[in-house]
Amino acid sequence: EAKRQGRGRYELFEPSLRKRVHDDAELENDLRQALARDEIRVVYQPLIDLATGRLASVEALARWHHPKRGLISPLAFIPVAEGSGLIGPLGERVLRTACHELVRLRQMLGDRAPQTVSVNVSRAQLRQTDFVARLSELLRSTGIGPEALMLEVTESLAAQDEGVQSVLREVSALGVALSLDDFGTGYSSLSCLHALPVNQVKVDRSFVSEALDSNYHRVMIEATIRMAKALHLQTVAEGIETLEQAALMQYLGINKGQGYLYSHPLNAGELEAWAGQQAAHTR
Ligand code: C2E
Ligand code: MG
Ligand code: MG
Ligand code: MG
Repeated sequence: EAKRQGRGRYELFEPSLRKRVHDDAELENDLRQALARDEIRVVYQPLIDLATGRLASVEALARWHHPKRGLISPLAFIPVAEGSGLIGPLGERVLRTACHELVRLRQMLGDRAPQTVSVNVSRAQLRQTDFVARLSELLRSTGIGPEALMLEVTESLAAQDEGVQSVLREVSALGVALSLDDFGTGYSSLSCLHALPVNQVKVDRSFVSEALDSNYHRVMIEATIRMAKALHLQTVAEGIETLEQAALMQYLGINKGQGYLYSHPLNAGELEAWAGQQAAHTR
């Protein structure tokens, strides 16, 4: 009797489960094709030096225009890539494109080009045995200089993963900087600063959007800044959407700002135009 009940329950849930598994498999297939056809694009969002108002850096963000489903968020396709071994080629494609784009921007814009480009990396990507060797070869072949590259990691990626932590120490030894993304949202933000050779923390958008109305969120940002200064880390506020938020972040002493107030993520051509114009305004 219990068996029959169990079986009934199983059948009740099975169709939706089967559909989800099917959807993921389909997405994985499409992603494999998109990579083979070179359809993954990279866009760049400016980071502004809050003290000078000048372009400081850009963050590379992956984009996938699916032929039937339209634009798919990286929040949806990065996990599929991670679960299927496709994150290696995808991540490498983003890294490569971003480094070459920095070379091109330097040629076009000279000292108005961003000083650094940061690229998000995920756990499965860092766990590839040849990640550090390939990264160092990429730096050599583009000649951008390791200090011009920053990798963005989240604490959940590195937490309790000795393998990943040691890869990140090797990356840091190459001279590539590490930025701790979405800071404050996880369970181990503080211990992460000890476990990893971090150079920068990015205060999560959820704190920035609440900071004007919520004493708690503002106090958390203040504490993060004080800690970062004592540890000689740079600070970034992500998701700045209003002038009021920008003014508060500058007043509190955040080094760099990123968000729709300054610019949405831009393709390479748009970024070049934006950087050229922006430099003209701030000179
Ligand atoms: P993230 O690294 O925290 O990137 C910031 C996200 O916030 C981006 O979303 C960006 O478009 C968005 N954003 C920027 N300014 C604002 C703002 O003012 N308001 C709001 N509401 N949003 C803003 P996106 O491009 O959809 O990327 C989402 C996440 O996907 C990224 O979060 C990152 O974790 C991941 N991701 C994106 N590209 C890659 C990649 O190449 N590799 C890996 N491993 N992960 C990636
Ligand atoms: Mg990021
Ligand atoms: Mg972030
Ligand atoms: Mg975020």
